[in-house]
Amino acid sequence: MQWLKGVGQKRAMALSAAGIDTIEDLIEFFPRRFIDARTVINIGDAQQYLWQSVTVRGKVIGVQQFTYRRPFRTQITIEDETGVLHLVFFAYGEWIAKQYKAGDEVIAIGSIGFFRGEPQIVHPEFLEKTSESQELAEGKMLPVYPNPQALKDGYISQVQLRKMFEQVLVSDDFARITIEVLPKELITEHHLMERPVSFREMHTPGSPETLAQARRRLIYEELFFLQLRFAVERHRIQAVAGRGIRFDVSSLASALQSTKPFRESIISQVLQSLPFSLTNAQQRVLSEIATDMSKDQRRIPMHRLVQGDVGSGKTIVALLAMLAAVENGYQCALMAPTEVLARQHFLSMSELLKNTPIQLSLLVGGQTKKIRSEILSELSEGRTNIVIGTHALLEENVIFDRLGMIVADEQHKFGVAQRKILIEKYRDAPPDVLIMTATPIPRTLALTLYQDLDVSTIDELPSGRKQIITKIVMPSGQRGLFSHIREVVKRGEQVYIVYPQLEKSETRDVKTATKAYEVFSEKLFPDLHVGFIHGKLKSAEKQAVMASFRDKQIDILVATSVIEVGIDVANATLMVIGNAERFGLAQLHQLRGRVGRGGKASECILVPSEKLEPKPDESVSSEDIESRTASLERLKILERTTNGFEIAKADLALRGPGDFLGTQQSGAVKLKLADIVRDEQILEQAAKDSAQLLEQDPQLRDKKHAATRQELLRLYHQRESFLEVG
Ligand code: ADP
Ligand code: MG
Repeated sequence: MQWLKGVGQKRAMALSAAGIDTIEDLIEFFPRRFIDARTVINIGDAQQYLWQSVTVRGKVIGVQQFTYRRPFRTQITIEDETGVLHLVFFAYGEWIAKQYKAGDEVIAIGSIGFFRGEPQIVHPEFLEKTSESQELAEGKMLPVYPNPQALKDGYISQVQLRKMFEQVLVSDDFARITIEVLPKELITEHHLMERPVSFREMHTPGSPETLAQARRRLIYEELFFLQLRFAVERHRIQAVAGRGIRFDVSSLASALQSTKPFRESIISQVLQSLPFSLTNAQQRVLSEIATDMSKDQRRIPMHRLVQGDVGSGKTIVALLAMLAAVENGYQCALMAPTEVLARQHFLSMSELLKNTPIQLSLLVGGQTKKIRSEILSELSEGRTNIVIGTHALLEENVIFDRLGMIVADEQHKFGVAQRKILIEKYRDAPPDVLIMTATPIPRTLALTLYQDLDVSTIDELPSGRKQIITKIVMPSGQRGLFSHIREVVKRGEQVYIVYPQLEKSETRDVKTATKAYEVFSEKLFPDLHVGFIHGKLKSAEKQAVMASFRDKQIDILVATSVIEVGIDVANATLMVIGNAERFGLAQLHQLRGRVGRGGKASECILVPSEKLEPKPDESVSSEDIESRTASLERLKILERTTNGFEIAKADLALRGPGDFLGTQQSGAVKLKLADIVRDEQILEQAAKDSAQLLEQDPQLRDKKHAATRQELLRLYHQRESFLEVG
């Protein structure tokens, strides 16, 4: 990067720390917003914009430093014709104070707050003299680039970034890098802007309209290559298909259809022993599964995702599907995300199957070597019909005699990578795969992640379920909450108090929960039975705690999110979730689904952490205001709806696909410009176009697709061997 004027070794290092090593990187370092003279507000109207992010423009009338009290504060006061506003900086004031003096005209962006009745912006995200913002003075749009710490540390300002782009956009490198990579037909068909023009517009927009065209083109391009990659994957998966198992599903089908006495089968026996009948949605999904299992034309193994809200009854659906495979002489594996849940499945399925010849086994950590090897040999000899466990079931040393089906419960993260392992391990007879999830994957995300999955939806809850009432209670309102907990326990019902757990810092979360447990058991409710469960407990200990909660020996169970999925205690009717904003909506929704499982009215109380509680006259930085407002908005979605689909959609829109899926999959969908919720239509178009292209030219060998192929390899090099193979 050092060949650019004004970029020496130091700045090159700062750019590199911000992830910009090459001209390509720089060109794709897109502005995060644009200032346009039309979007500037009058300072006099600040009150209307409280806690919102705005652009202001005015003349500096004073620069003050307050050093008599910590934290040190620097204040630049500006005015326009309508009012006065303070730009406030804590800590690094010296440097700021030197740069501005009375009479300078400045432009600033940040979130409006008030202090002693006067509007202020604390730590504006953008501040510049208008003399430096020549573009704006000329009535053009001004790009505002992201400002990561690395750039701040390297003193690379917005002005310098703009200067760099002035050089880059006219260089030979720019012309070389921005050659066309999309097939010509698509450019014509969709009226896409030319590639170099689009990049130039992104950094120096001519008008909002041309900028919008540039964005549309680049978003299309980004999504097109993402989809092209998935299309390539799908081709590969299908290349090994064709050896799928063809099950006879007549007993499942007849059990589903007839109201007459069932044909004698284990399935009919289990169905008859249930204290309820299947909902219509459960029946429909089961028949979709049966169709996949028996499909005989192409013998492609089933790859089906069953999504259904918490409590919609996915377990019994999975069990019946497995029984159909077992009746064909095959074995099945049920994988749960946690041991606690695996054990619970084992218990409830043992109960359902107790009068049948089905052999169930449980394979989890903490079993003795001897027991473990017994379980493994029973499996490999084919004596076990269904084995229940965690992901460990996929490991090398777990050998089946005749594996027919794998069910992954509560695992929307069971993605392409895991399915590939399976396909490779069971090359000769790939088992059917059924994925169960209570986190519905919005259609757009399914398109990007699960192109080769079929999706079934259990869109109906068993009748008699009570609505779960959800409320946000601020930490300062907790007193009332404690007496409410007491009332619930007095009624003979039970309470969960959850401090959810983050994968990254389990230890810290256990600490938070441990402290909470001490407070609850010793200070607040010494007279009640308070229990504690967390991920660090040995599995026997966890089991013991869950058992005593089930037996009502524990009134209040303090927990980390180990209880997130699947736990089923009908007498628990109140859940309190602490530090609630730290977790994804889908996760909170899952947690909330632990109550309301019996016929009793249930509640979920979300307590955000203290830092989300606004205090009057507090100086909060623009960044904090933004994140705090967003967090509360997110929690309010849970107050509004208990529909898991709506929640998932909102969650995805707010957090983006990476966060939505957790760390595991985030690498798969890292998008620069596109937003798979907002750009849903473009995404679908790109999916269609990329599939069509591969159909015409599966290896992209045609000369006219050379640049497209080159770009795909550049973007996904190493990850994609398919194109090299054929
Ligand atoms: P989830 O979809 O969250 O995994 P489960 O399979 O654990 O839900 O089912 C939740 C509860 O609902 C269980 O106690 C189960 O026995 C019960 N259940 C399942 N299907 C029905 C139904 N059709 N009618 C009534 N209760 C049902
Ligand atoms: Mg479940």
